[in-house]
Amino acid sequence: MYQAFRGITPSLFHYAPETCAWCRGLGLVDGGCCPTCSGPGHVLASQPGLQCSACNGTGRAPGAPYSMITARCVACAGSGWLARNQG
Ligand SMILES: [Zn+2]
Ligand SMILES: [Zn+2]
Repeated sequence: MYQAFRGITPSLFHYAPETCAWCRGLGLVDGGCCPTCSGPGHVLASQPGLQCSACNGTGRAPGAPYSMITARCVACAGSGWLARNQG
């Protein structure tokens, strides 16, 4: 929901790097660049960091095997973190 954000600049929000849940901070998945963080092994999450409740911070859709790269959690896109005011 964005109706309350009208006129507010992004600089008012504090973001800090949190460990990417999809690659677990490695930056690589199955020998390739992590599609969630694009390599650095971390993602920017609004602070205070809020773990994704849909996947319990794992970044994976419930029941999905680790190697199934397309089964990223839809709520956090695999990062394991939610932006503030989401959910
Ligand atoms: Zn990653
Ligand atoms: Zn999630």
